[in-house]
Amino acid sequence: MIDLHTHSLLSDGELLPSELARRAEAKGYEAIGITDHVDASNIDFVIPRIIKACGMINKYWKIKVIPGIEISHAPIEEIKNFVRYARKKGIKLIVGHGETLSEPVIKGTNKAYIEAGVDILAHPGMISVSDVKLAKRKKVNLEITTRKNHLKTNRHVINLAVKYGANLVLNTDTHSPNDLIDNKYKYYFLKKLNLNMLQIKKIENNSVKLIKC
Ligand SMILES: [Zn+2]
Ligand SMILES: [Zn+2]
Repeated sequence: MIDLHTHSLLSDGELLPSELARRAEAKGYEAIGITDHVDASNIDFVIPRIIKACGMINKYWKIKVIPGIEISHAPIEEIKNFVRYARKKGIKLIVGHGETLSEPVIKGTNKAYIEAGVDILAHPGMISVSDVKLAKRKKVNLEITTRKNHLKTNRHVINLAVKYGANLVLNTDTHSPNDLIDNKYKYYFLKKLNLNMLQIKKIENNSVKLIKC
């Protein structure tokens, strides 16, 4: 199991990064990305702390923990700058908080994250055909999510990604310990979305590629 979108109490998650990593490891995770919400108010608070915590965990434990962020509700005009800044500061995994239907995300946010070259566009809601085509060109992974308030549009995202050849990844957007899943649930969840084993393997490979960078 590789999960590249989770939150610790550095933003609105319930667990310390170490406890989140330990619980994931106990569930059989091979790797986890810890991607706390950031905007201009807390980006300089979160980045050094998540890098420090991940560094220590990776030194001693088997699970690989990737220091990430989820840029959230950023002004569209600033998204490129956030991405550039975070990479310069050593962040290895950048998630863009996409246009989920459950929050008033500004229209055009999906496109701005794709253009800025984030690693994953999270919960992209009713993403447009042109944005899916752009995601394919820019090699931005589109997220399938197990999180209840975002999962209604999974089928739409999958249909367009399959049709236009964009990459997909599966993440949990964990905020609480019970949000973590295991491999068995992952297969159950993806099969229920009518994905076949070949497509599921491809989705897994997309996550593998992201933990190698
Ligand atoms: Zn959150
Ligand atoms: Zn999130």
